[in-house]
Amino acid sequence: MDYKALADKMLPQITKTSEYYLDKYKKRNLKEGAKVTRFAPSPTGFQHIGGVFAALVSERLAKQSDGVFILRIEDTDQKREVKGAIADTIATMHNFNIDFDEGMTGEYEEKGDYGPYKQSERGEIYQTFAKGLIEKGLAYPCFCSSEDIDAIRAEQTAIKETPGYYGKWARCRDISPEDAIKRIDSGEKFVIRLKSPGSPDRRKEIHDYVKGDVSFPESLQDVVIIKSDGLPTYHFAHAVDDTLMGTTHITRGEEWLPSLPTHVQLFEVLGFPLPKYCHIPTMMKMDGESRRKLSKRKDPESAVTYYREEGYPNVSVLEYLLNIINSNFEDWRAENPEAPYTDFPVSLDKMSNSGALFDIVKLHDVSKNVIAKMPADKVYDLYTTWAKDYDKEMYDLLTKYEDRGRALFNIDKEGPKPRKDFGKWNEVREKIFYFFDELFYDEPKENLELPSKIDLEECKNLIREYKEVFDISGEQTDWFAGLKEFAVAHGYTADRKAYKKNPEEFKGMVSDVAAAVRAAVTHRGNTPDLYTIMKILGKENVKERFEKFLDL
Ligand code: GLU
Repeated sequence: MDYKALADKMLPQITKTSEYYLDKYKKRNLKEGAKVTRFAPSPTGFQHIGGVFAALVSERLAKQSDGVFILRIEDTDQKREVKGAIADTIATMHNFNIDFDEGMTGEYEEKGDYGPYKQSERGEIYQTFAKGLIEKGLAYPCFCSSEDIDAIRAEQTAIKETPGYYGKWARCRDISPEDAIKRIDSGEKFVIRLKSPGSPDRRKEIHDYVKGDVSFPESLQDVVIIKSDGLPTYHFAHAVDDTLMGTTHITRGEEWLPSLPTHVQLFEVLGFPLPKYCHIPTMMKMDGESRRKLSKRKDPESAVTYYREEGYPNVSVLEYLLNIINSNFEDWRAENPEAPYTDFPVSLDKMSNSGALFDIVKLHDVSKNVIAKMPADKVYDLYTTWAKDYDKEMYDLLTKYEDRGRALFNIDKEGPKPRKDFGKWNEVREKIFYFFDELFYDEPKENLELPSKIDLEECKNLIREYKEVFDISGEQTDWFAGLKEFAVAHGYTADRKAYKKNPEEFKGMVSDVAAAVRAAVTHRGNTPDLYTIMKILGKENVKERFEKFLDL
């Protein structure tokens, strides 16, 4: 059998050997325990939150061990490729503070000594390794057309046999090199398949660093390793690239777990040491009573753009994803309220191995805490940056009245219980609109929220007089003492017990009068500290609001 002649016939342009490449890409010189991980997207354009999840796990593992994090572009399915997708991936990840040490740095640029990092440019490398296998009789040309493959499958289905190209179903497996050469000479097209050495009686045990020990029968499938266009399949590219790039930990979605038998076999056949596999859970969500995969079609939150549009700060999304990655993150956060999330040690063995449940309500909650801890100036900056793209009117107001904007985000910020009223930027407008006359005076009357205990008439009676005496020139306590005095003079009490005992003796409590003032100044029943709001608005503006309130 002349496999060498067959290999030369199939891949005449390949003149290098596998050894050449194994020697060219030197072993990395890293400290003990350093992890080399990679994010390996196909450039199909759509950025899924699951991608950020996977990239974050990989990036954390590399960074926290002083390892290397690579961006490799898996563009071997050229029909699905979208222009600009590489740049978009890099920019999206960068926004999430996920940066690569090595690999693609732009649509056509890259950095690092283990490239090219775009699979479509590595054709010669894959073909060299494939040629090495053909020479050893471990791979062969398959001349079956897609119709032949469909016919095989139909027959297998009809007799309930495992589908695929293997054993006796693998028609081209036993074509002699001489016959194969003749067919190639006569112009027949072919793909290259692995000649699987698997046996149905043997099993493999693999330790997955997320899933634990997994055991499966050896693969029998003669998988395609090089397609008719000369590019590799995912399986083959994974084995070759992750070996040459020195990836230590394969962090990838668990949807690849069923392919593991094929991958393990390819590593063996190629004589490569097996990397550490870490199959990370798929993002799920609750749909009624049951869980299902987060779907690109049904769930807007599956798209990364959703978070930007809604105005979730990126750091909120990251903190939330860390919550899903390791359930001990929440306790860690409680113990380390001020630490950057990058101090949290992500650990593979604390990762759920049964699906990551994505819950937007929880994200919102995490985000409220994240924003609560941000300094007011940061809130101002992030909000205006968001508003510039998504709420131009707010952007114009906040930049026109910048001092007011910065001050209003500072209300109730300091102290043990900072305000926690925003989870995302698109809910800020409703909570701050009253700081801007342009929005406040345009509010329809129906939106006015009155105090629960007193009606509009009584509110107006109070405000008519209060506008003449209110004084915000002193400290908050001075202002409140004045309000109390005013309230008592108008039949309200500051004495809760007395009010509880004989409510009929009073019109209400001081808090009801404060609520009337709040309604007049903000039209809302629930706001941060009223005195501070009035201070920011200034005496004249507050007075004008009192007057306009009387006309409502
Ligand atoms: N290109 C593959 C994907 O997008 C990468 C899987 C992996 O990380 O190995 O699913």
